[in-house]
Amino acid sequence: MSLIDLIRDAGIVGAGGAGFPSHVKLDAKPEYLIANGAECEPLLRQDRRIMEKNAAGIVRAMVAVAEHTGAKKLVAATKSHYGAAVEALKKAVSGTGVQLHLMKSTYPSGDEQTLVYDITGRVVPTGGLPLDVGTVVSNVATLLNIADALDGKPVTSKVITVSGAVKTPVTLEVPIGTPIRALIEAAGGFQSGTAEDYEVILGGPLMGFLAKDLDEPVTKTTGGVLPLPKGHRLLAYKKVNMDRQAKLAKAVCCQCSVCTQLCPRAALGLGVEPHKAMRALSAEKGALLGNPNSLFSCCECGLCTYHACNFGLNPQAVMGSFKKALAGAGVKPKKEVKGTVDPGIKNKKVPSARFLSRLSLSKYDRDAPLVPFAVQVETVKIPLKMHIGAPCKAAVTKGTAVSAGNVIGVPQGLGAVIHASISGTVVEVTGDYVTISKRAG
Ligand code: SF4
Ligand code: SF4
Repeated sequence: MSLIDLIRDAGIVGAGGAGFPSHVKLDAKPEYLIANGAECEPLLRQDRRIMEKNAAGIVRAMVAVAEHTGAKKLVAATKSHYGAAVEALKKAVSGTGVQLHLMKSTYPSGDEQTLVYDITGRVVPTGGLPLDVGTVVSNVATLLNIADALDGKPVTSKVITVSGAVKTPVTLEVPIGTPIRALIEAAGGFQSGTAEDYEVILGGPLMGFLAKDLDEPVTKTTGGVLPLPKGHRLLAYKKVNMDRQAKLAKAVCCQCSVCTQLCPRAALGLGVEPHKAMRALSAEKGALLGNPNSLFSCCECGLCTYHACNFGLNPQAVMGSFKKALAGAGVKPKKEVKGTVDPGIKNKKVPSARFLSRLSLSKYDRDAPLVPFAVQVETVKIPLKMHIGAPCKAAVTKGTAVSAGNVIGVPQGLGAVIHASISGTVVEVTGDYVTISKRAG
C-alpha cells in the first residue's frame, strides 16, 4: 500500500491547524519538508512533550514522506530552549540527513508562512500554499500520527496540554471524543471555586476560542485546554461584538497603524493592513479597506490585538470577520505577493514572555508533564467533522459493537476517515456525532 493510502486510511489531518487532510497535502512533489515543532502559542506544551517522547518517530515519518514525495531538504524546526526535545531530536536526526532549525522563543515563529520564510527565504503568496514555493510543512504531532500509520495504527487519540487555572497543569493523551471536563479533572480540577467561576479556552491563549461548555469533545485538532477565571481580561477579547468593535474603532482608533507595522504577514510583503480594516469598519465604507485580497493573508495570529494596539481594540477579530464575509460572498483569494519583505523582519518577532505578562498570564506559565492515558473515559462523543471539507457520513448505527480503531465515519469528498477511539457500543448517531459507550451492550 502506498504511503498516501496508509495516511488516508489512518484518518490523519493537520493536528496543529485547521485539519487539512494529510493524504491530500502530502500527495505533492516539494523540495523542502519542514517538521513544525515550534509550538507557537505560549502556555502549551504538547508538541514539546511529543518531541521529547518520540523524536525518532517524527524523524522516521519525515524520511518516509521524503521517500514518497521526493523532498530533498528535510528540516525539523523547534525552539532552542526546549532542552530535552532538542536533545531527543539531535539524537534522532543523526545520520538521516534531517537538519535541525532552532528558533528563539518568539511569536509567531510557528506560523507556517513565517517558518517557510525563515528556513527557505521564500514567501508564500497570498491565496497560495507553501507548496507554491516548493515546501510542505507538517506539525510534529501530524508526523507522529504518520509514524503510527506506518505501524497500522489509525488516529484515535490526541495529546493535549491542560493548563491555565487548573491545580496541576498536565499534558495528556486522551481518546478523541473525550469531554474536556475529564481533562480538567485529570489536571486536579479548577484552582478554586466551581466550574461556574471559569471559562475555558480551547487552543492557545492568542488564537484559541471559547468552549461552549465542559461537554465539548476533544477533536483531532484540539490544541489545548485553558480554563481562566471569569473576568480575566483575555476572555473579553474572545467575545467580540462587531457593532461594539465598530463604535470603538470610530471613537478610539487613531489610525496610528502600529498594528500594521507589527503584523508578521505585512512584514513578509503580503500587504496585510489591519489599520485599514479598522478604518473601513468605523466608516462603514469597504472602499477604505485597501487591497481586499490581502485580507486572505491574515493568519489571525493576534499580534496586532494582543501586542500592537495600546487601546484594547481587536483588529484580529475584525480581520477574521472581513475574511469570513469575503469568503461568504464567494470571493476567492488571488495568488499574489504585494510588496517586498521588510528588511527589519527579524526584529519584529515578539518574545513570548511579553505576551504572557501583557495578558496577565505569566502566573500560568507552568510546566505540564506528559501523563499518557491518565483519563479513564466511559463515553466518547466523536464529531463527524474534524477536518476541512464536508462532515463524514456515519458508517455505524445505534447498537453497533465497535473496537477501538474501527472505521465509524467515511468522508464525503474532501475529508478524513474517522475511527472509534474506544471499544464499546454505539449509543447515538446524529448528523454531527457518533457516541460510543463502554458500558452499553
Ligand atoms: S487598531 Fe490600534 S494599533 Fe491599529 S491603527 Fe487603530 S489604534 Fe492603532
Ligand atoms: S491577526 Fe493581525 S497581526 Fe496577525 S496576521 Fe492578522 S492582521 Fe496581521
